[in-house]
Amino acid sequence: MYILVTNDDGIQSPGLLALRQALDTVAETVVVAPERNWSAASSARTLFDPLRVDPVTMADGREGFVCSGTPGDCVALALLGVLERKPDLVVSGINIGVNLGNDVSYSGTVAAAREGTTMGVPAIAVSLDGRKDADFKPAAAFAARLAKIAVEHKLTPQVVLNVNVPRSEIRGVVVTHLGRRTYRDELIVRHDPRGRPYYWLGGGEPEGDLTEGTDTAAVANGYISVTPVHFDLTNHHWLDALRGWQLDV
Ligand code: MN
Repeated sequence: MYILVTNDDGIQSPGLLALRQALDTVAETVVVAPERNWSAASSARTLFDPLRVDPVTMADGREGFVCSGTPGDCVALALLGVLERKPDLVVSGINIGVNLGNDVSYSGTVAAAREGTTMGVPAIAVSLDGRKDADFKPAAAFAARLAKIAVEHKLTPQVVLNVNVPRSEIRGVVVTHLGRRTYRDELIVRHDPRGRPYYWLGGGEPEGDLTEGTDTAAVANGYISVTPVHFDLTNHHWLDALRGWQLDV
């Protein structure tokens, strides 16, 4: 098995290192990761600047590749020819912070995995409810186990497995559907030395839906959540209603 490992927190992230080290126990791995943090950049792609890919030595002395572009650029470059052969799986993470419910639409971690599936390679995204100094080992060990099982079960590129790991003691693993997170965004206004206003989009931790069966509830209750996500955003309930609007010209 050959795995492309990437993330959205950047090549220096301890989550990326822990993930790569765990995946090394089940597969041959290669890292292609962005040079800086692209969290919440979703599927951004670089269209108007050249991209660079350079070899880099990671904190444990292993070699990897650092890319000047976004997480999506990293995966696209890797699969379009920077790698000499096509990987069996893309694994993205371990993100510092959860990607639950509607976080998925912002997440660069999930977008990097999605880029893999768009290009025909099955993919897994892994996020941890923790900060930079968290212990990534349990999440990394689970990711390695899941990678092995997923390839054995012939995971297809029609789905991304979105994995979220709780920060506390892990009580088990549940398969979930996406819940809903309620954001508490607020606009923070400050002024620069010339008196011009500038803005931060801030706010506290979002609240998660605690409905049984959701990813948000699973992680809140101490379980690893595995959600099969895909990107047909069609709202099927609305198809008939919309057809009744007589939009034809
Ligand atoms: Mn991130």
